[in-house]
Amino acid sequence: PILFNIDQLSHCYADGTIALRNVTLTIKQGKKIALLGNNGAGKSTLLLHLNGILRPTNGAIRFKGKEVAYDRKSLLSLRKQVGIVFQDPDSQLFSASVIQDISFGPQNLGLSKEEVLRKVEWAMEQTETTRFKDKPTHFLSLGQKKRVAIAGVLAMDPDIMILDEPTAGLDSYYSKQIMKVLDHIQKQGKTIILSTHDVNLAFEWADELIVMNDGEILCYGDPATVFEQD
Ligand code: ADP
Ligand code: ADP
Repeated sequence: PILFNIDQLSHCYADGTIALRNVTLTIKQGKKIALLGNNGAGKSTLLLHLNGILRPTNGAIRFKGKEVAYDRKSLLSLRKQVGIVFQDPDSQLFSASVIQDISFGPQNLGLSKEEVLRKVEWAMEQTETTRFKDKPTHFLSLGQKKRVAIAGVLAMDPDIMILDEPTAGLDSYYSKQIMKVLDHIQKQGKTIILSTHDVNLAFEWADELIVMNDGEILCYGDPATVFEQD
């Protein structure tokens, strides 16, 4: 099944910067998708459209066949299914402690206390954040904050997980660990969409690659096909 149909999407920021130009793509369920491109290529801008944080200047986005709507109720429903981890963890972490931060999302899903705790403990294990769970988030290193931000979205168990540069700022041990977690949840049936400028990571990990440059899609398909086109 197709999750997203993106049709001639363009985005122009308030200062006139054109960040996306006529992007047309489909995103299928259950895939591991990597968005590859240099800084400024438009990766974040595209990802922020997928859970309704940004609205198209032109063009359309359909999710499961329906045009994305921006009223509160539609956005809540979209965001229950599509979780996003921002590039900068500071824009995502605001609670007094790590465990409170990771619990915030699942607590708002109407689950039982026990289920929230199970998901939070699972997410902390997966990201190896358990040992500093009682620390205030502002005392953590950038890499630790990233893992906490990832844990918070993991614990919500969204069907689709979007991660903007998840391994930037992580050393190779934790990068591998995070990629392993993403593989694990993909095997559970989830769809993973991440951005990276790490060509090796993208080619090794992804089963669909989207290569962007200057707001446009350069090429798109499975890594072997994309490699041949280069
Ligand atoms: P990437 O994630 O590939 O680095 P971005 O989507 O962040 O690319 O940026 C695409 C372009 O949009 C860049 O030229 C960037 O400077 C610009 N841009 C990003 N965010 C804003 C913003 N809030 N206001 C104006 N320009 C922005
Ligand atoms: P795993 O898939 O890691 O082996 P299990 O399927 O044995 O885990 O589930 C054990 C508990 O871990 C579940 O009850 C749930 O609370 C938590 N869990 C497993 N997968 C996820 C997930 N994708 N998101 C959130 N919590 C999860």
